[in-house]
Amino acid sequence: MGKVYLIGAGPGAADLITLRGARLLEQADVVFYDALVHADMLALAGNATKVAVGKRCGRVSTDQRFINRQLVEAASKYAIVVRLKGGDPMLFGRAREEIAALEHASVEYEIVPGVTSALAAHAELGVSLTERGVARSVVFATPRVGSDQEASDWAAGVCAADTAVLYMAAGQGAQISEALQAAGMHARTPVAIVENASLANARRILTTLEGLRDIGDWQISGPALVCIGEVYGTRLRMAEAVTAAGEETAQALAMFSGRRV
Ligand code: SAH
Repeated sequence: MGKVYLIGAGPGAADLITLRGARLLEQADVVFYDALVHADMLALAGNATKVAVGKRCGRVSTDQRFINRQLVEAASKYAIVVRLKGGDPMLFGRAREEIAALEHASVEYEIVPGVTSALAAHAELGVSLTERGVARSVVFATPRVGSDQEASDWAAGVCAADTAVLYMAAGQGAQISEALQAAGMHARTPVAIVENASLANARRILTTLEGLRDIGDWQISGPALVCIGEVYGTRLRMAEAVTAAGEETAQALAMFSGRRV
């Protein structure tokens, strides 16, 4: 029986995997990887058979039960099986289901943490998730619920924290804006959206909770996080000042690309 390693691939950049994860990739016999894993990172697994089991909303993805089954099967054939998952495996990655399948089949496994995209996004923004006197609590949440699940009270969780980072949320800007205002959050609460954090085409957009309604105008096609809280206020005011100083169109309102605000 082989061993299965659930490894965090980090947010996207090929060199943001841990040393432990990279070493295991080099030794791997087979790698099952997510859609957002960088080709240069996969190249580290020089000896391995590589199997795409990618998930990217709106596109064809491998059924979770099928992935679970493949992991168990691979462990009966190979010594080192790697399941390479975007960001950190333990955040919004359905790790519990994979772990349950491995435990059920008595397959040995180990988890190697990764840099979750929220942390890469804040490196990109140059904004600390916490700030003395401003933000002492952070929530990672998603407004997304599976088709077979009951509605969640994610908005209450977001309102209870000083800083909120929403995963899998970019397609629901209008609903998020409405739900949080209905829950009592101020329309002028600063919002930062970070797309493709850690990659060369990273994009940061500064707006407000009210402005989040227009998220559709920004044509976000890569993975993105919606970040909400007073910690983004300074960046938002900088962005507004740039706009007031004569950025070409109203559309450019508080919109940035490049690596420095
Ligand atoms: N386990 C992953 C999250 C998987 S859910 C992690 O720890 O990061 C997928 C969501 O992660 C996407 O919808 C998006 O919200 C976020 N995401 C992943 N990579 C990202 C990136 N490079 N930039 C911004 N958001 C990203």
